[in-house]
Amino acid sequence: MKRIVVATKNKGKVREFQDLFQEKGYKVVSLLDLINAPDIEETGTTFKQNAILKAEGISSIINELVIADDSGLSIDYLGGKPGVYSARYAGEEKDDNKNVEKVLHEMVGVPAEERTARFHCALALAIPNQPTVVVEGTCEGRITEEAKGSNGFGYDPIFFVEEQQKTMAQLTKEEKNKISHRANALALLEKEIHSLDIL
Ligand code: IMP
Repeated sequence: MKRIVVATKNKGKVREFQDLFQEKGYKVVSLLDLINAPDIEETGTTFKQNAILKAEGISSIINELVIADDSGLSIDYLGGKPGVYSARYAGEEKDDNKNVEKVLHEMVGVPAEERTARFHCALALAIPNQPTVVVEGTCEGRITEEAKGSNGFGYDPIFFVEEQQKTMAQLTKEEKNKISHRANALALLEKEIHSLDIL
């Protein structure tokens, strides 16, 4: 069976990619399955750059198909922050609660119409001896004044989705997976793979 390496150690992400690639006849493995998996530094200034860095960096070493993602939150009032620093916005320990607190603090007193934000997810598929395929999915929302809900992770409790009238953390996993930036990016990637007829 042909295989594809997902450049992550996050089992949740691996599962999402398995659904897409298994039906195309690929076994999906992650960095957890590779001995001496290379560590690629995320030095890019955009989600796309970081996804490409990770996918191409690892693919060039192991000479296999590699898919990488990079995601985060972009808040208009904060000029796009936390952006590519979303995971470590409040410090290197990558603490979700502290990140949320920091954003809420920076948004105190900001009126509703200026609280617009979006999640981004960039996906890069590096294919040996072929150009890398890159897509980006987004999900629009608004930053709440307080955290609500306990599902999901990261900034989900303060990200209000207009259509559902709930925060992302109040949605079930199934509801989130229909509208999320990652779901949108995966759908775009599937379209690209199909139209380029590459796998
Ligand atoms: P990474 O793509 O695993 O590096 O994640 C970047 C960071 O962006 C995460 O640590 C979260 O803080 C944030 N993030 C990305 N996707 C989501 C999401 O679906 N919900 C909430 N926060 C997210």
